[in-house]
Amino acid sequence: MPTVRVKAPAKINLSLDILGKRHDGYHFMKMVMQTVELSDTLIVTEEKAPGIRVTCSDSRVPCDGRNLAFRAAEAFLKAEGLAGKGVSVHIQKRIPMEAGMAGGSADAAGTLVGLNRLFGRGRTPEQLCETGLSLGADVPFCLLGGTQLSEGIGEIFTPLPSLPDCRILVAKPEIGIKTRDSFAKFDAIVPSRVPDTDAMVAAVASGNLSAVAGEMVNVFEEVTDLPEVFMLKEAMRSYGALGSLMTGTGTAVFGLFDDLRLARRCARALYGKAGAVFLTRPDPLGARVEG
Ligand code: ATP
Repeated sequence: MPTVRVKAPAKINLSLDILGKRHDGYHFMKMVMQTVELSDTLIVTEEKAPGIRVTCSDSRVPCDGRNLAFRAAEAFLKAEGLAGKGVSVHIQKRIPMEAGMAGGSADAAGTLVGLNRLFGRGRTPEQLCETGLSLGADVPFCLLGGTQLSEGIGEIFTPLPSLPDCRILVAKPEIGIKTRDSFAKFDAIVPSRVPDTDAMVAAVASGNLSAVAGEMVNVFEEVTDLPEVFMLKEAMRSYGALGSLMTGTGTAVFGLFDDLRLARRCARALYGKAGAVFLTRPDPLGARVEG
């Protein structure tokens, strides 16, 4: 049966601010986001039997209607008038869960891209964003990828120049946090430190990695307030990261390194101290068909 292989990159937030809350509960965000090479691989196949089937290499991931890839397939087939078709999506999971790296959203974006190719629909990533946003606020970014300023509820984008090539060390504490819980906690506090997003955009435009590192602030760090996060941030700084930050709603922490040897040394030091450690780098693209 016709099949495509899709690369679905994870994201990190170089900065994250929340500007307010909409009447329906959605939050207005202002964030600078970056896709990274750490990614899930999706095998998307047209099947003879009608219906949607999702499988995943990680048994902790639900494969029914709770899976964002499942919901993305459902939404795509409906939007394209293909509701009677049969498709399967196999997810090779690498992106850590409850990490703030948009693992589920990346799979949703990858499914949309895969089905678009499989059924020869020729939709652009921008066109897929409309369906993507109905699935989750991070799905449009996972479709577009690269370095972007994201505003609104995750649907307004300004593309930024690529981050200079660097090493990004990601360490995910054993403890995770559900996105929903982080937002609920945020609503109860007034953050004492917020990012200067204009300064971050200027730093990215300058191509100076140290300047980018100097502007990294995430309002959710104060909300989650986890000792594990602060320990990992501090460890990365002490091993030579230009800057370190929790990504998204957490709990993964990343460090920006301009020196591969220092990044590797830090990675070795953190194995055993974090649930998972990945050494990755910026990826200039969003979810795409491989090969
Ligand atoms: P985000 O940055 O979007 O907040 P996250 O790291 O907090 O991402 P995800 O890994 O996207 O969280 O997903 C967390 C929860 O979503 C999991 O507990 C899981 O049950 C559910 N989920 C649904 N679809 C997927 C998927 N394709 N991959 C991983 N988790 C999924």
